Amino acid sequence: MPDRPPSDGPELPEVQMHLHRQDEPATGVVVRNEVCTQKKAAGFVRHIEFDVSGSRLAGNFRTGQAFGVLPPGVDDKGRPHSQRLYSIASPTRGEQGKGNIISTTVKRVIDEHWDTKKLFLGVASNYLCDLQVGETAKLLGPAGKRFVLPKNHADHDYLFFATGTGIAPFRGMLGDLYYQSSPRSATLVMGSPYATELMYHDHFLAMQQDHPSFNYLTALSRERQSDCEEGLYVQHRLSTHREQMTELLSKPTTLIYICGLVGMEMGIFKRMARILPPEILSQYLRVDPEAGEIDNWSRKMLHRKLKPTRRVFLEVY
Ligand code: NAP
Repeated sequence: MPDRPPSDGPELPEVQMHLHRQDEPATGVVVRNEVCTQKKAAGFVRHIEFDVSGSRLAGNFRTGQAFGVLPPGVDDKGRPHSQRLYSIASPTRGEQGKGNIISTTVKRVIDEHWDTKKLFLGVASNYLCDLQVGETAKLLGPAGKRFVLPKNHADHDYLFFATGTGIAPFRGMLGDLYYQSSPRSATLVMGSPYATELMYHDHFLAMQQDHPSFNYLTALSRERQSDCEEGLYVQHRLSTHREQMTELLSKPTTLIYICGLVGMEMGIFKRMARILPPEILSQYLRVDPEAGEIDNWSRKMLHRKLKPTRRVFLEVY
């Protein structure tokens, strides 16, 4: 690595895409389907694993990519359901290191219709969460090529921000980073409403015990944490851990990955702009002088007046 890498980012690996399309889906056999939040969680979030042996997905996906799921049945216009994309939660070598078991993190969508106020159940999420071990699903993909670890992934420091099920790719990436080699360091900031809703919490705590260069921080938005009086969003960890974060972001080797709720990226950029000296901020975000006061920055300015550099990887929905 050069002393100060170009803010246009590291080299990314080649990835395989769309090896199975809608007309020729792969068959995934469910080998595990279990809750991955804490006891008494209010939501229903499940970690689901599929054996894709014999399909072109096997050995050909990379953590950070997504796969498609084709739910059975038809939509309200009588057309077959279209595919839904789910982030891969397993490392690139799969759940058991042989490339044939792919996983994802699924939250049941249970809501009210905006207009009718009647119960709304998400088609694909509830279909997936209901699947029993041994049952099969039609899978497509893989999809996505930008939100992946760089080729020389051990040469970097990482700052991962996740909200809710946005944790899925980071579970996989941290697997790649710590099971295959060891990165310079990795910090994960996980945002959730309550401690009960934290996903894979024990897994990350154990990882932190085993790997001193891994740092796991949580940001609970609706309850107090031992180190903070009020609820926090992930971006607030840039302030509560300002010294540590500034040091991390000042390293020429640091990359930022953001996954989860749309809107979280702007909160993170605003907070970075407040705590970082301009010469460090510019390594991650190019700010046009016309962007004006930080308080007035909005999502509409993204990629126009506020341009993330290629040291920032964004996947928000
Ligand atoms: P959740 O459990 O409700 O947790 C989301 C957390 O983020 C809550 O603590 C929430 O706080 C907080 N939050 C809300 N607005 C925020 C903001 N502007 N900045 C920072 N934090 C904010 O999440 P979820 O229901 O699992 O939803 C996860 C989202 O991630 C979904 O929209 C899903 O589509 C997306 N996702 C994207 C990908 C991908 O792009 N590949 C993968 C997986 C998931 P309060 O609710 O207390 O305000």
